[in-house]
Amino acid sequence: IADPIETDALIVGAGPVGLFQAFQLGLLEISCHIVDALPAAGGQCVALYGGKPIYDIPGTPVTSGRDLAQSLLQQVAPFKPQFHFGEQVATLARQPDERLLLTTSAGKAFLAKTVFIAAGVGAFVPKRIAVEGIERFEGTSLFYHPDSLDRFAGQAVVVNGGDDVALETAIALTGTAAQVTLVHRRDGFQADEATVAAMRRLVAQGKLAFKVGQPGAFDGKQLQIVTPDATTLDLPLDALIACLGISPRLGPIADWGLELERKQVPVDTEKYETRERGVFAVGDINTYPGKKKLIVCGFHEATLAAWGATAIVFPGKAVPLQYTTTSTRLHELLGVR
Ligand code: FAD
Repeated sequence: IADPIETDALIVGAGPVGLFQAFQLGLLEISCHIVDALPAAGGQCVALYGGKPIYDIPGTPVTSGRDLAQSLLQQVAPFKPQFHFGEQVATLARQPDERLLLTTSAGKAFLAKTVFIAAGVGAFVPKRIAVEGIERFEGTSLFYHPDSLDRFAGQAVVVNGGDDVALETAIALTGTAAQVTLVHRRDGFQADEATVAAMRRLVAQGKLAFKVGQPGAFDGKQLQIVTPDATTLDLPLDALIACLGISPRLGPIADWGLELERKQVPVDTEKYETRERGVFAVGDINTYPGKKKLIVCGFHEATLAAWGATAIVFPGKAVPLQYTTTSTRLHELLGVR
């Protein structure tokens, strides 16, 4: 594990609440880093309903999950929070100097005065192929939801899955890979009609192969699939890409020694602090009497949690409430005149 990155605050999760948390901390001049298991910001709003309309964000009659994430990113930009995407926060432990040491799945470490758990319903991670021992090929010949397809140029690639991401991946690869085969458990797709039509056109043109079946065995060089009539088919390949959707896992948070009530972290409603001093929990991950899992509630929680952190980050200092409308200091921080 590398030398820890020292920070006033570490936010676990870049969903809507984690992003607004960074904004509220910024107004109070508390610097932060944000870690998310996903490759981009937005949490459930982007991962589960990016294109769908949302009607209950205050002052915004209608937006979409993706646009809300974009607006939140734009709003927080003046504070330059440092994002660490594609890694999961794995451990949290109190240090003798009271700070909190956190490590990530990518081997990074953070030493933070305060921690904001904005982990929603858990870290979004790709669903894995259910074949015993297949995990040993991850990163060499097996890839889940890869960020870029560049490395597959000129290769024989099998794409497993039947949703938009799987189909779009297979379609994109036909331009660069030597050979592309799409494998799905049935000849029917949970994807946009136009995407399915584009995929079927490529199959008719012989540019994309399509096989119905489920992965049965994998040795890094060959995928064996079991077809609906229970025969097996061997597909030689350089790379297997699986796009089987993503699902949330509470994962390591359950091991951080925090009290949990039905997979949620109890907090007070003054500072949204857990029973661990300096560890706050905001958004869908927390629970308290009257809790509602709504974005607007998470925004309120993040605001009070940021104020709660001032006592730890600026001990002995009374931090005054300032309005963004009128405070010249806040205008300076926001980069507006
Ligand atoms: P999330 O959005 O869940 O984000 C949490 C993030 O934390 C994720 O990106 C996850 O990958 C990351 N994470 C978790 N654990 C770790 C870890 N250990 N390491 C690194 N990263 C981690 N709410 C409304 O107010 N209005 C609506 O109209 C509305 N519509 C909805 C429609 C649908 C279909 C769904 C599913 C939800 C809807 N919601 C709506 C609920 C709303 O999306 C949630 O309340 C909101 O996303 C919670 O935000 P969050 O930031 O707390 O968590």
